[in-house]
Amino acid sequence: MNAPALLSVQGLRKSFGGVQAVDDVGFELRRGELLAMIGPNGAGKSTCFNMINGQLAPDAGRVLLHGTDIAGRKPREIWRMGVGRTFQVAATYGSMTVVENVQMALLSHRRELFRFWPRAAAMHRDEALGLLAQVGLADRADDPCSTLAYGDIKTVELAVALANAPKLLLMDEPTAGMAPRERNALMALTRRLVKEMEIGVLFTEHSMDVVFAHADRIMVLARGQLIAQGTPEAIRADARVAEVYFGSGKLVQGGQASRGPGAETRAPGGEAGTANG
Ligand code: ADP
Ligand code: MG
Repeated sequence: MNAPALLSVQGLRKSFGGVQAVDDVGFELRRGELLAMIGPNGAGKSTCFNMINGQLAPDAGRVLLHGTDIAGRKPREIWRMGVGRTFQVAATYGSMTVVENVQMALLSHRRELFRFWPRAAAMHRDEALGLLAQVGLADRADDPCSTLAYGDIKTVELAVALANAPKLLLMDEPTAGMAPRERNALMALTRRLVKEMEIGVLFTEHSMDVVFAHADRIMVLARGQLIAQGTPEAIRADARVAEVYFGSGKLVQGGQASRGPGAETRAPGGEAGTANG
């Protein structure tokens, strides 16, 4: 028998007043898989993420983590079970150094934070440096986070998330505010870590170029409903996606399945390479 999926979402629903924000969403995510959820603003992506990480209780449906239903459990409990998400390092701990931010995440993961905080400067430094090496930031370890470029801060956030040794990592718009080149770099790095560490990542992203270049599979959400899921190639070729999500079938000009840089996608009336910005 096959092992249960890392994440299996079934019949998930949530409404806010009269708005059916998430309407019968179901999908699976396996270890070592980078899965994108795309859709216009208000499609219900963040609401899905918030139900998976426990910030919102679903009205109905199941969220199975390795076969265990975690729907409605508290965020901290779900986090302890191995569901991580990226936090904004810049907003909170900008005065700390890069390596201290990762050390603090390691301490927090091991519940040592309050017992050992005065000695934190020495604790887990080597391990934190190892994580920074994995994300390519070892040379910035002793710099205050506030001195980093925005793209590097986002990379620290990824290292901080990894310090919690997640099995599943949820990244809701991880590249928000980043330039196209930085977006591609962060998602290429994420993809490499997904494969090396065999974790699962579910992410949202506005740039279609980034999504199609890096995701293993793509889900398309519109008005709370999943209208398609499949490989980038299948999603490009999906007439319903083109019609409902992109308006007039111009997901990719000429329909070629290019994954390289410069493969511009256009939403009619929208910014090049951005479908819902
Ligand atoms: P997305 O992340 O795809 O942009 P959201 O999940 O944030 O979409 O929102 C889906 C729908 O649910 C939208 O219509 C939004 O206005 C509504 N919504 C989201 N969160 C709340 C909330 N806390 N209270 C009321 N309405 C909400
Ligand atoms: Mg959102």
